[in-house]
Amino acid sequence: MKVKAACLVDYYSIEELVEALGNVGLPRPFFHIGGGSNILLMNDFPGTVLHSCIRFIDHTRLESGVSVRAGAGVPWDDFCLWCAERGLWGPENLSMIPGEVGAAAVQNIGAYGREVCEIISTVECFDTEQHTMVALRPEECAYGYRDSIFKNEGKGRYIVTAVSFNLREEYSPELGYGNVLEAVTRSCGQFAVHEHMLTPSQVRSVIVNIRSGKLPDPVKVGSAGSFFRNPVVPAEKYGQLARDFGETVPHYDLGGGKVKIPAAWLIDRCGWKGYRGANAGVWDSQPLVIVNATGNASPQEIKDLEDRIRASVLEKFGIELMPEVEHVS
Ligand SMILES: Cc1cc2nc3c(=O)[nH]c(=O)nc-3n(C[C@H](O)[C@H](O)[C@H](O)COP(=O)(O)OP(=O)(O)OC[C@H]3O[C@@H](n4cnc5c(N)ncnc54)[C@H](O)[C@@H]3O)c2cc1C
Repeated sequence: MKVKAACLVDYYSIEELVEALGNVGLPRPFFHIGGGSNILLMNDFPGTVLHSCIRFIDHTRLESGVSVRAGAGVPWDDFCLWCAERGLWGPENLSMIPGEVGAAAVQNIGAYGREVCEIISTVECFDTEQHTMVALRPEECAYGYRDSIFKNEGKGRYIVTAVSFNLREEYSPELGYGNVLEAVTRSCGQFAVHEHMLTPSQVRSVIVNIRSGKLPDPVKVGSAGSFFRNPVVPAEKYGQLARDFGETVPHYDLGGGKVKIPAAWLIDRCGWKGYRGANAGVWDSQPLVIVNATGNASPQEIKDLEDRIRASVLEKFGIELMPEVEHVS
């Protein structure tokens, strides 16, 4: 089902953005959108949706590597491809994540052992409170797991206009996560792995293959990717789960008495994988993903399914799942 905004402004420069923000004729409130791949629009939006079409990629050679600067409106995967084609290491494991460069810095996107904050050097923003441009270093962006200042106290205040990344020409693949090394070895051969002969393009295409087999193609099936965050529970709670459900409960020890449990495992154990309702469902090969299976699901149908999944996980495991997807109403 389609929802509509009262007004949409595509802007092509910082000047056009500033002009839109000051335009009293535009309906309020403002909401800044990227590719729209991690939001659930609950209703028609009464205000103005802003969208960056600032699209450029340039680079500067530094002593420590290569600095690449990209406009917030560049599709994220175009940026990954651009870097891989030039032999630059850094974003290859984040290939094929939907969305745009600006939102990647907002969301602190992550996949296959890499988070974007590890390669960001500066986030350029328009500060709507001070009416000036600011350049924030990663330490100032309060990055955490899929989290940043832009999602918390800076939400609505900072509009990302460009992001700079510190990338490397010297060999630096990140193959330690899950089955990445195995998949790279299968695809590129043991010799290339042992002799450090892989290229960023090769790693990128392995990641693209892994993702294509696991996640719905956003062009064909609507989804917002992982709908829920992985819950972090006290170690005692994990101990109780391990006793109740066997030692096989997957987990990641965060230290300090905290343990992260994969939300996908909890949802799967509640029997949701592959579930199909009238229009909304759960992706067969990744239970973290709620899909608009027919393309006709209303926002409320998606929300109802979200609520049912959360209720069943709470009932079975005593764990409250929190959505990763932002609900906009
Ligand atoms: C199939 C699929 C797979 C996915 N896989 C992953 C994955 O592996 N890892 C991962 O981390 N995420 C993943 N996601 C989630 C999503 O791709 C990311 O969160 C992405 O960064 C969202 O980008 P977007 O441009 O679509 O942002 P939107 O969804 O449009 O917006 C996201 C947030 O950013 C804000 N925002 C957007 N642009 C700006 C700007 N210029 N300035 C300030 N705020 C802004 C919005 O207001 C909103 O709060 C996946 C999503 C899908 C659909």
